[in-house]
Amino acid sequence: MLNLVLFGPPGAGKGTQSAKLIEKYHLVHLSTGDIFRANIKGGTELGVLAKSFIDQGQLVPDEVTIGMLASEVNKHADPKGFIFDGFPRTSAQAAALDALLETKNTSITLMLALEVEEEELRKRLLLRGADSGRADDQDPAIIQKRIDVYNAETMPVKTYYSEQNKYKGIEGIGEIETIFNALCTEIEKA
Ligand code: ADP
Repeated sequence: MLNLVLFGPPGAGKGTQSAKLIEKYHLVHLSTGDIFRANIKGGTELGVLAKSFIDQGQLVPDEVTIGMLASEVNKHADPKGFIFDGFPRTSAQAAALDALLETKNTSITLMLALEVEEEELRKRLLLRGADSGRADDQDPAIIQKRIDVYNAETMPVKTYYSEQNKYKGIEGIGEIETIFNALCTEIEKA
C-alpha cells in the first residue's frame, strides 16, 4: 500500500494537491477537515461538537478525531492506499495512526510537507474565506489562532516522522503543477 500523510499549515494547499494525488495514484482521500464540515452540515452530534472547536480556531480533541478517523479507515476493505490530509495534527494522533495501520499490516510510506511562510498563509486564507464562506477563514484573529496552534501542537508531528526518516519538505509556493510534480518525484523515489 501507498500511505501518504500530506502535511502543512492551514492554507498550504493540501486540499488542492490531494485532489491531484488521488487521481493519479487512486488513493482513498481522508481529510479530517472535510469530514468535520460534512458532519456540521448534516447537523450530527459530532458536527455540533466539532463546530465549537473549529469556530475558535482550536483543534477538535484527540479522542474524538482519532475515533472518527479510525472508523473512516475501517470503511475501506482493500484500498490501494490512503492519503491523510489534515491528520495527524498532534503527536498523539500520529502514534494512534501508526498503531491503527499496524493492525492492518501496513504503515505510513511518506510524509509530504508543503512549506509556506506565514504571511502568504494569512493572505491565502482570507482569499479562500471570501470565496468559500468558510467562517474560520474570514476572521484574522481565528486565522492567527490556527497558525499558532499549528506551530505549537502540529509542528512536533514533523519530528515524529523525521525520526522515522519519512519526512520530505516541498516548497509550497509556485505553480500548482510544479508543486504537484515535486510531490510525485518524492513518491516515486519512496
Ligand atoms: P486548514 O488546514 O485549512 O486549517 P482543515 O479543513 O484541515 O483546514 O481543518 C479545519 C479545522 O478542523 C481545523 O482548524 C481544526 O479545528 C479541525 N481539524 C481538522 N483536522 C483535525 C485534526 N486532525 N485534529 C483536530 N482538529 C482537526
